[in-house]
Amino acid sequence: MSIVQNITQLKSKIPARVSLVAVSKTHPVNLIQEVYDTGQRIFGENRVQELVSKHTDLPADIEWHLIGHLQTNKVKDIAPFISLIHSIDSFKLLEEVNKQARKNNRVIDCLLQVYIAKEETKFGMDFEEVSFLLTSEALQQLKYIRICGLMGMATNTADMDQVRKEFRSLKTFFDSCSFPAPSHPNHASLKVVKPVLSMGMSSDYQLAIEEGSTMIRVGSAIFGSR
Ligand SMILES: *Cc1c(COP(=O)(O)O)cnc(C)c1O
Repeated sequence: MSIVQNITQLKSKIPARVSLVAVSKTHPVNLIQEVYDTGQRIFGENRVQELVSKHTDLPADIEWHLIGHLQTNKVKDIAPFISLIHSIDSFKLLEEVNKQARKNNRVIDCLLQVYIAKEETKFGMDFEEVSFLLTSEALQQLKYIRICGLMGMATNTADMDQVRKEFRSLKTFFDSCSFPAPSHPNHASLKVVKPVLSMGMSSDYQLAIEEGSTMIRVGSAIFGSR
């Protein structure tokens, strides 16, 4: 099937309440343009350098999401244009995002990455760290960020019961969280967002949607394997 057929079919399978991030990492701009031409506007990348160069080469109305691990020294490169950072995994990183957002006179939307998988290699915070951060005084001082919700990645396994269990635990935790209102003086001018739960990829997005995901990040099911 062609890329256009892939995304058309994918969109027919996801409910309207779920947003689709087309994960375009490693794929060239001409293929991204093909997907853009079907009407898709949200694209996700996991590397800052690649994201910056694609942002330069592609239409300006694309909403770029960073889905991969972010180093503090790279935040400045994406701060002028990034729409959503899915991968906040420390308060220190949030402070840097706040600092660079202030320099660019904007509020940057962020998700906290929660560690739910059994693997050791996945980035993210555990439930306790997230709860602590969300209720901390220090967070209220960061006026140039808005925490819109959570992101999680399930274990990379064929055991779908395990994957479902992990998604379910994240959804339960998500429902227990309250995300602080933005404290920027002009926050009234920000587009209101419902809390975002970013979970589900090519292999498990259907499960993730059943378990309450509001945003899926799909790469290979659109662009083919990397
Ligand atoms: C690559 C990636 C995806 C998409 O993976 P596919 O299996 O190609 O759909 C989703 N989320 C993150 C964080 C990724 O790095």
